[in-house]
Amino acid sequence: MNGFFRLTLCALALTLLPACSMDSDQTASPQPAAALPVTNAPVEPPAPPPVVSTNAAPSSNAAPTPVPPTPSPSPSPEPRFIYSSVKVDGPYIAMTFDDGPNPKNTPKLLDLLAEKHIKATFFIVGENAARMPEIMKRIVAEGHEIGSHTWTHLNCSKSSDEKIRAELKRTDDEVLAETGIRPKLLRPPYGAMNLRQRHWIHEEFGYDIILWDVDPLDWKEPGVSVVAHRIITATHPGSIILSHDIHAPTITAMPEVFDTLLAKGYKFVTVSELIALEKTHPKIIQPEPAKVLDLTNAAPAVVAPVVVPTPPPPAQP
Ligand SMILES: [Zn+2]
Repeated sequence: MNGFFRLTLCALALTLLPACSMDSDQTASPQPAAALPVTNAPVEPPAPPPVVSTNAAPSSNAAPTPVPPTPSPSPSPEPRFIYSSVKVDGPYIAMTFDDGPNPKNTPKLLDLLAEKHIKATFFIVGENAARMPEIMKRIVAEGHEIGSHTWTHLNCSKSSDEKIRAELKRTDDEVLAETGIRPKLLRPPYGAMNLRQRHWIHEEFGYDIILWDVDPLDWKEPGVSVVAHRIITATHPGSIILSHDIHAPTITAMPEVFDTLLAKGYKFVTVSELIALEKTHPKIIQPEPAKVLDLTNAAPAVVAPVVVPTPPPPAQP
């Protein structure tokens, strides 16, 4: 018998008996339970408040959220000199090879390029060029372009202006002495170069700064077919394709790359030729002053500029 029951029975017994012990059921006269009133009937809980959905769709007559107008890209007042790809009016692409020359792989690559009648661009490391002047001469003699990749494969973003300046000048002087041509292009190793550096280097050396939009990560040597597949699937008109002629598997991948891209109708040009193609199609690429477009004195046509996104540089060259 529980305590409540005992208490109730005792309270009832008090009215009938002279004493009631809470400690002993034996002293209390049991009473039929049915005689006790039920006082602990469950209380009906209050009705829950009506459920109000906070996720209700806005009614159709709700005021629409104003959408700010998309700002029109305005033409940059600065000349374009940083390229990761080029907007061209045709199937033109640029194949680029970094970090050489390499005594074994670069001549093999040059043979292949000659066989396929393909022109490429070599971003050479100055100290390698100094060791292989004959290969440098051959690159130029066979119609390819040479760009600077600094003297020691310098991480420019972690280097002083003085250090960068010295490496660029030394590389330029070496290439000029070997080939008679001063590089007009610079590819920063690892793509690592901040905007301030890009600007002063461009102003001081006159380079176009060349990044890329196709990166097969061939330096990781993922396998010949992987390198080829990555290049083939990622290439678009105007692409600048990054690869490295210091890695033998990269050279092995090139026949498939070249044959497949040629079969798709792509035309290989040097980086400077690709940039020149952009500049010869200003209506497609860059907004021009109205006087250029308004040939009939009609209202000048508005040509939307094409914004070429710069991909973030990869973690590795
Ligand atoms: Zn590199």
